[in-house]
Amino acid sequence: TCGICVEKCPFDAIEIINLPSELDEEPTHRYGENAFSLYGLPVPESGSVTGILGPNGIGKTTAVRALAGEMVPNLGNYDEEPTWEAVLDRFRGTELQNYVEQVRDGEVSIARKPQYVDQIPKQFDGTARELLEATDERGALDSYIDRLDIGPVVDNDIETLSGGELQRVALAATLARDRDFYFLDEISPYLDIGQRVTAARLIRELAEDEDRAVLVVEHDLAILDLLADTLHVAYGEPGAYGVITDPKSVRNGINEYLKGYLSNENMRIRPEAITFEEHAPRETTKAEPLVEYPDLAKSYGDGEFSLDVESGTIYNGEVLGIVGPNGIGKSTLAQLFTGDLTPDMGELDFALDISYKPQYIEIDQPMRVDAFLSSITDQFGSSYWNTEIAKPLQLNRIMERNLTDLSGGERQRVAIAACLSQDAELYVLDEPSAHLDVEQRVQATSAIRRYAENHDATVMVIDHDIYMMDLLADRLMVFDGEPSIEGHASKPQEMRDGMNDFLSDLDITFRRDERTQRPRINKPDSQLDREQKRAGEYYYAE
Ligand code: ADP
Ligand code: ADP
Repeated sequence: TCGICVEKCPFDAIEIINLPSELDEEPTHRYGENAFSLYGLPVPESGSVTGILGPNGIGKTTAVRALAGEMVPNLGNYDEEPTWEAVLDRFRGTELQNYVEQVRDGEVSIARKPQYVDQIPKQFDGTARELLEATDERGALDSYIDRLDIGPVVDNDIETLSGGELQRVALAATLARDRDFYFLDEISPYLDIGQRVTAARLIRELAEDEDRAVLVVEHDLAILDLLADTLHVAYGEPGAYGVITDPKSVRNGINEYLKGYLSNENMRIRPEAITFEEHAPRETTKAEPLVEYPDLAKSYGDGEFSLDVESGTIYNGEVLGIVGPNGIGKSTLAQLFTGDLTPDMGELDFALDISYKPQYIEIDQPMRVDAFLSSITDQFGSSYWNTEIAKPLQLNRIMERNLTDLSGGERQRVAIAACLSQDAELYVLDEPSAHLDVEQRVQATSAIRRYAENHDATVMVIDHDIYMMDLLADRLMVFDGEPSIEGHASKPQEMRDGMNDFLSDLDITFRRDERTQRPRINKPDSQLDREQKRAGEYYYAE
């Protein structure tokens, strides 16, 4: 072996099994004999935003319950009554000492935004305004309603809101509280990039201007980078143990995570590094056209929403990224291509086998995952299928579960696998990153990319995660217009033109991290931001 992993080689294993040095120490909390153990704790700090970067099931909720004073961590002694004095002894002299003293003295109050906003309608009856008014402890509500653009739906019943609307209501409800410590478990689900950036700015303002401590878990790395001041990387084996590292600068934390190696901890968390293209990919000599389509138009009802699509060509073997705000017609376009919708103008006369993963996944048959997947492909279980599909999508642990019992992230992974397992000429994936944690996104991205390359498959991917797009797409189709009213789809463009088109609408520029070349959002009106806007280079600056 290479000496990195202990039990199994990660090249061959689904879970990367490390023996972290921290395991020599006592955990912060252990639920019982052979039960989940948490090592380390994040350090909330007034006036700053602390991020946690890592997979689900790694103990972040456990950590937050301890930091909120709802649970006294037992330092591994699960059969003894835990005390704050013992916890304080453990953390004396560390950055956590002050904070733990305050928790012990009952001085820390907390506001939290749950991870699964879709659950909110089950817990609350009434309109969004009724929910929000109950939370407005700082008199900040009107400003949040305005900046998060909740106004048009604020008097609607909670149960009628879309995922993106619920997410923004939940953010406003959390940020409007008057507390010491705010915990936000993911801010980006269901939001488009513009909305993600706005949410990140509001959270930063709360920390900086109101001197609050904010802890966030976020799986969209471009947003986490913008949002956090310091970062704890979390690693381990979901469900078994989790290690939360000491705080790192957000830049180093993300760089080390992408590299797959944590320097201070001397810990490899992934066999290979994730790398970005610094320059726009060169225009390659084009393959055969797969689809040539004319100008198209589609509207709903009596024209409440109308979409027009500029004619274009999709080439065999390319990955075409599709970007744009919510409600602009991206899913409508996908359904025009799959034949689920018919255009009002223009004809799609190709007869292609298309494999489609919709945004909202409906695979609710009372059937086991393995039975479902083997009904789709006779490759199921072959060593090729295991390596290319099951492993990167972490399916082995859920093969025996019922489709109806899967969580959002599990369902997403099964749906991506089902989509890629079909024999088709065109694969259409609508928001594959939704509900996936950061590590699952990385793995799913490389599975889709590898599949496209090895099969000469043509893939269309709609997504809001810009890192995922950067890693996946050969070209971009950009949507603009006015959400819910009218949308316009550009023809497929080279990455540089497409990114410029897309990001100039959003008024966001990216610079490159010197060490890893990963894209980072520029501060608005910073020197680089102004220079790049002047040069019209929003993403691939020279
Ligand atoms: P995360 O928030 O990172 O998804 P959690 O802190 O909720 O993780 O849970 C981490 C692990 O601890 C999970 O495997 C979970 O099943 C386990 N766990 C959570 N609460 C308890 C409990 N009261 N008793 C035993 N195990 C628990
Ligand atoms: P996106 O995928 O970019 O979020 P969609 O294509 O889902 O956008 O929707 C674009 C607009 O069309 C939205 O305002 C949406 O509410 C509306 N819309 C979508 N499907 C229908 C439908 N079947 N009937 C009426 N309006 C619809």
